[in-house]
Amino acid sequence: MDLGLTGKVALVTGGGRGIGAAIAEALAREGCEVALVDLGDCAAAAEACRRHGRRALAIEADVCDWNGAEKVVARVAQELGRLDALVCCAGITRDNVSWKMTEEDFDRVLAVNLKGTFTYARAAGKLFKEQKSGRIVAIASINGLRGKFGQANYAAAKAGDIAIAKTLAKELGRYGVTVNVVAPGLVETEMTRKLPAEAFQAAVAETLLGRPASPADVADAVVFLCSERARHVTGEVLKVDGGQYV
Ligand code: NAD
Repeated sequence: MDLGLTGKVALVTGGGRGIGAAIAEALAREGCEVALVDLGDCAAAAEACRRHGRRALAIEADVCDWNGAEKVVARVAQELGRLDALVCCAGITRDNVSWKMTEEDFDRVLAVNLKGTFTYARAAGKLFKEQKSGRIVAIASINGLRGKFGQANYAAAKAGDIAIAKTLAKELGRYGVTVNVVAPGLVETEMTRKLPAEAFQAAVAETLLGRPASPADVADAVVFLCSERARHVTGEVLKVDGGQYV
């Protein structure tokens, strides 16, 4: 199936590793030029995209930087010639039960996962509104839908991402822009490698398919939502969780 992505340009935040790196590579495989934005090093992830014969721009930036987001979006559009899709994937966890959660851990998780999605969605959304086309995909979590023991900060941020996406879908729909959410369940990445083994196994046991997702499982759903094939899908939350939250 031709996804209609050849020659398109996509920006992926949190593209340096894990799910974001897999999304960037999957988009490159389908023909996109990509820009990867990350607090950490994106060089290896960008190189993986280039191996598909596409240009890849690695940009070091903090997604919490409001003005920085506008500058990065403008830079990508200038250097890669256009911008067609934004994937907001940068995220962190700092888990603790509510009675032990610190203000710092609450604020930082909200800043990266919630504000960091809005800064980029807002900046790209402005451009997409002008050009009357564009795709925005936010990576939330099933824990933003169901809540999660020890994750008041993270679950609130991810629920907020869903609210932002639905709001922007309403604001930008008349300009031909779609805004959707992918809500993964347990995915095997650095983020979940730090979980205690019992917690990891308990999450696997919740799935109906009996395994955690790979980053590629999530990336394929994102590629679909960025593609021409998803042209009439907006304001949607697509769980990619092997049936973990049914
Ligand atoms: P990861 O820790 O492997 O990767 C996250 C990336 O985000 C890193 O490269 C990190 O440097 C970057 N990042 C963190 N803070 C940033 C900031 N302020 N500015 C720019 N970049 C920043 O995690 P992952 O598992 O790949 O998670 C990716 C996304 O998927 C996150 O939004 C996460 O909440 C979400 N998610 C993950 C899982 C899971 O089980 N791993 C489940 C549901 C949702």
